[in-house]
Amino acid sequence: METVDVIVIGAGVSGLAAARLIARGGRRVVVIEARDRVGGRVHTDRSGGHITDRGASWIHGIHESPVAAAARAFGMPMVEFTVGGYQPDSRPLTYFDARGRRLEADAVRQYAADIRTLNAALAKIIAGAGAEATYGDAVERALAEQDWDAERKERVREYNDRRAQEQYGVGMGELGAHGLDDDTVNGDEVVFPRGYDELATNLAAGLDVRLEHLASQVDRSSEGVTVVTDRGVFRARQVVITVPVGVLQAGDLLIEPPLPETHRRALGLLRMNAFEKVVLRFAERFWDAGVYGIRQLGDEGEWWHSWYDLGRLHDEPALLTFAAGPAAVATRTWADEDIVASTMAQLRRLYGDTVPDPTSAIVTRWQDDPFSRGSYAFMLPGSVGADHDDLAEPVDGVLHLAGEATWGDDPATVPGALLSGHRAAQNVLGIDIPVSELWA
Ligand SMILES: Cc1cc2nc3c(=O)[nH]c(=O)nc-3n(C[C@H](O)[C@H](O)[C@H](O)COP(=O)(O)OP(=O)(O)OC[C@H]3O[C@@H](n4cnc5c(N)ncnc54)[C@H](O)[C@@H]3O)c2cc1C
Repeated sequence: METVDVIVIGAGVSGLAAARLIARGGRRVVVIEARDRVGGRVHTDRSGGHITDRGASWIHGIHESPVAAAARAFGMPMVEFTVGGYQPDSRPLTYFDARGRRLEADAVRQYAADIRTLNAALAKIIAGAGAEATYGDAVERALAEQDWDAERKERVREYNDRRAQEQYGVGMGELGAHGLDDDTVNGDEVVFPRGYDELATNLAAGLDVRLEHLASQVDRSSEGVTVVTDRGVFRARQVVITVPVGVLQAGDLLIEPPLPETHRRALGLLRMNAFEKVVLRFAERFWDAGVYGIRQLGDEGEWWHSWYDLGRLHDEPALLTFAAGPAAVATRTWADEDIVASTMAQLRRLYGDTVPDPTSAIVTRWQDDPFSRGSYAFMLPGSVGADHDDLAEPVDGVLHLAGEATWGDDPATVPGALLSGHRAAQNVLGIDIPVSELWA
């Protein structure tokens, strides 16, 4: 048995942030990580000479973002790419209507204006939404207030459903009414041409990270904790658990005695989503130049409605699309080739049969990843943002939970994960620490 001061379970951004600050505070820290790499859901693939972020890509707004500050300090290049918030018109997009015809500029302006009108009505409805209301219920109520014909309403309903899918990996009928409350973008959005994983690598520098150590049990007493892994038992005064909520809910990491009722209630209000990336690389670009992305409206876009031009990151013709929500659930068991063929059929519908096959493709499988069990957590009906923070309440001064799903202001993100790690470190050390200590 090894004894240290603090054990951190999980070497994702939250665990690394917590461990770094606790170690700087003079404690002996060991980080237990099941994978053979750090970063967790920040995972850059460098196969075939290409750089692909399989997990997180974006900082959804660099204004006052701690991740942007860390990235600058670590010398990570960033590229502006302000389409990660499913904005209708913040940057140039090519739109195709339900029949596959290009939408004129005036029609796009009207569409975006309708979306903004509905959003204003939606905010008031959500503020007064009942406990069991879904985001879809709120959208229907807001649409009912509009003096629009059926087609106009359908386009805005569709927009909101697809936004819920692309932002939270779930249709609006399953998402709690407050499920998109946090979904604001402050300033430009950016991505990382050299890979988001440089953030994790920098945070991990100098830490004692034990890779390929699968934790299966945490036993807590007033004296401290014992963590059982497949490579030995560790003992410490305190533990910070950062595994995704999907891992906790599956019972893959047994916590004894069980978490208090407040924590279990909050955990029950969250669910891991179904959200996968499909990255397609081509010999040459066949789509419009100078646009950030392509969108198709209508039923043909039920699964494949948005493609983003990765040519902004690297000098290569490449598109990113998402199997988000129902599409990810339905295609979960499909072979990669079939998923690629399905999205290519829609691209050929829009750009013609001469569109070539991609030269390579990457399809992610976060739903089948035993160490995440989905991409990130969404809020079920009945939950509000603050429920996330209940999970982070220290238990007996010994056990701390951190991770994206414990940060109510900005869950499901890398900044949320980082700030939750910062909070856990402050709770462990019992002092306030400037978050900038992470990159000092
Ligand atoms: C496809 C996808 C796209 C995304 N896009 C964005 C985006 O554009 N912008 C954004 O801000 N966020 C995005 N996110 C979300 C973001 O990646 C996460 O919110 C964040 O990385 C979570 O960090 P974390 O430390 O909370 O969890 P994790 O990164 O999951 O870290 C937890 C760690 O615990 C480990 N672990 C699990 N079980 C065990 C065990 N039993 N024993 C030991 N270790 C264990 C895991 O291997 C993992 O390394 C995306 C995520 C995905 C998957």
